[in-house]
Amino acid sequence: MNPKKHLSFGSLRNGLSSVFHDIPDTRESVKIDYHIHDAMMSGFACMYFQDPSLLQFQERLRDAENRDNLQTLFGVSNIPKDTQLREIIDEVESEQLTPIFKDYFSRLQRGKHLLQYQLFDGLYICSIDGTQYFNSPNIHCPSCLTTTHENGEISYSHKVLQAAIMHPDMRQVIPLMPEEIRNTDGDSKQDCEINAAKRLIPKIKKAHPQLGLIFVGDDLFSKQPFISDVLAAGNHFIFIVKPKDHKYLMEWIDAYDKEDINELRIIDQKERIHIYEWVNNVPLNGRADSINVNFFRYKIITMDKNGNEIVTYKNSWVTDLEISRENIAILVRGGRCRWKIENECFNTLKNQGYHIEHNYGHGEKKLCFNFFLLTLLAFFFHQIFELTDHLYQACRKKFGSKQNLWQTLRAYIRILVFETWEHLLNFALTPRKYKVSFQPP
Ligand SMILES: [Zn+2]
Repeated sequence: MNPKKHLSFGSLRNGLSSVFHDIPDTRESVKIDYHIHDAMMSGFACMYFQDPSLLQFQERLRDAENRDNLQTLFGVSNIPKDTQLREIIDEVESEQLTPIFKDYFSRLQRGKHLLQYQLFDGLYICSIDGTQYFNSPNIHCPSCLTTTHENGEISYSHKVLQAAIMHPDMRQVIPLMPEEIRNTDGDSKQDCEINAAKRLIPKIKKAHPQLGLIFVGDDLFSKQPFISDVLAAGNHFIFIVKPKDHKYLMEWIDAYDKEDINELRIIDQKERIHIYEWVNNVPLNGRADSINVNFFRYKIITMDKNGNEIVTYKNSWVTDLEISRENIAILVRGGRCRWKIENECFNTLKNQGYHIEHNYGHGEKKLCFNFFLLTLLAFFFHQIFELTDHLYQACRKKFGSKQNLWQTLRAYIRILVFETWEHLLNFALTPRKYKVSFQPP
């Protein structure tokens, strides 16, 4: 089965092309050697194939064959040099890329691929978390966050607050347009994760007004002002609470008689005991205007060789969703899902070939964040193929690891020109069956 047409590489790439074409060009026309589209698409192609030297190889191919894969696969008419590529991308306002995230999300929705992501009827988990993708003792731009160390030295960094739709049973995560954690010119106060989250919530609402969301996040987000923002935008939440930051709430819970705390115990096949406890309608804090929340906690107990009970996992959360015997286990799975944004998204971007922390260039304005966005979009393409494209899935199976697959694809596109992405994948699956244009140099 082939992916639905609107989720094929060609169609996704056309969507990206039209967003890149719509980016306003403020340069004087006499100075334009390369179009914004070609620069952005070339940058995207490097991230897509996880290859910083892609452009040089394709240029060589173009010299030898009058054609290359940037042209056939990505619609790049003129390959920019590295310096020009950086100069052009540095000037692009990052918000210009917002529509593409919504577009791909809607395509998945239309293809009914989102249904399997529902935690409850019509409700999806949206995990939010911050990550740092650039850090340097000397390279910096006006958007950099700064840290002054004890020895007086200053280091510079870029961070982002990422939101992604996920489900406990699904390996793939669906990224939404992230919010940059950045300093603005002339503002001496450092931006932070929670402020970025406050900006992001209404943006997500605006992009997806009909979507039922449960925001999931760590202890940083389980504070009243932020929870109020989340609720005001018509969302739900499951946020971690830690005893040290929620003393009043914990004392309140501790004051209950044990029999007044709802409890569910399940012993699984490995003889581990899962203990779920919950109390609805408790104050979040000691303020006179405290909101009420529903509290739940969970632990896993295993027996060691000597028959002693060992707690191997425990955590606590608050939510606005009413907790019952029927939904408590699902809520715990939803709350625990949070790690996926680190594991399946950030770790993949940092360590699994994308090299998000690799220095492609820093720029003076938007370059650093725009490279992050292009990498995230490449990741988004690959997540979509994992979910929907059987040809891609067959390749994943054949090559075992992602690393192996991409190494092979990179090697092929350095020496051969492919008409389409499908042509490349089919060739990778059964090289002998497919003819490709090849002339020895
Ligand atoms: Zn910077």
